[in-house]
Amino acid sequence: MDKWPIGVFTSVDAGLGVKLEVAHELAVPTIQLHAPAKETRTQANAEQFLATLSELGITLTAVFGGFEGESYADIPTVSKTVGLVPPETRAERTQEMKEIADFAKLLKCDVVALHLGFVPHDTSDPLYQEVLQITREICDHCKANGQALHLETGQETADSLLQFISDVERDNLFINFDPANMILYGTGEPIEALRKVGKYVRSVHCKDGKWADKPGEAWGQEVRLGEGDVGFETYLRTLQEIGYEGPLTIEREIPQEPERQKEEIGHAINLLSELKAKIG
Ligand code: MG
Repeated sequence: MDKWPIGVFTSVDAGLGVKLEVAHELAVPTIQLHAPAKETRTQANAEQFLATLSELGITLTAVFGGFEGESYADIPTVSKTVGLVPPETRAERTQEMKEIADFAKLLKCDVVALHLGFVPHDTSDPLYQEVLQITREICDHCKANGQALHLETGQETADSLLQFISDVERDNLFINFDPANMILYGTGEPIEALRKVGKYVRSVHCKDGKWADKPGEAWGQEVRLGEGDVGFETYLRTLQEIGYEGPLTIEREIPQEPERQKEEIGHAINLLSELKAKIG
């Protein structure tokens, strides 16, 4: 694969990404895929999807786990509903995450990713140990499939994430870095965070956002790429610095406004292509 191929976050029947057709129309060579709904994760559908990708000349670079009942409405809601942290749904979602990894294997994809949720910052909190344990379980399941597990950033600081990865003690655990999430959740300056966690970054999102007035309490605002506080030229230069050459996957999740979504992704492709030509 070339250095820094453009990518886009896509969905089939679950999740908020764009449809595969949009990736094709915009001539994007790589995609990440939000895992389809449970009932459609079949061998036959996997084969059909692979055939479509091959026909369109698109490479699948990661499958993202997502679960029913997750809501990103505001920060407290994320804490209660997202990922493997909430205790009520943990066992069921851990099982489903393994099934998603198995479906990714059918798609010949060796990267599985997810938002773990809000991992407690206090490492002596029993919840912290519980989340460590299930992360190990999922890493081991992925390892047996020949896969790596990438954690999406945003809900914790760079230091907490480093601590967590080190405590999990598995060699197939890496990071999907999302600079806008650091801003939206108010968990730290993204460029500084990227330098800190750089050696674990194996996939990235290209998404932009503006800081909230009270970061960490209220959401920041997601905006068109290049119009927020990430600073995309510095972002790409920093990716260069840490030696990252993988896909630049654009994430813009406004499926309720498909025309605007497509236009904004087109704009992001242009901006990233210009920066690639300048820096890469
Ligand atoms: Mg993201």
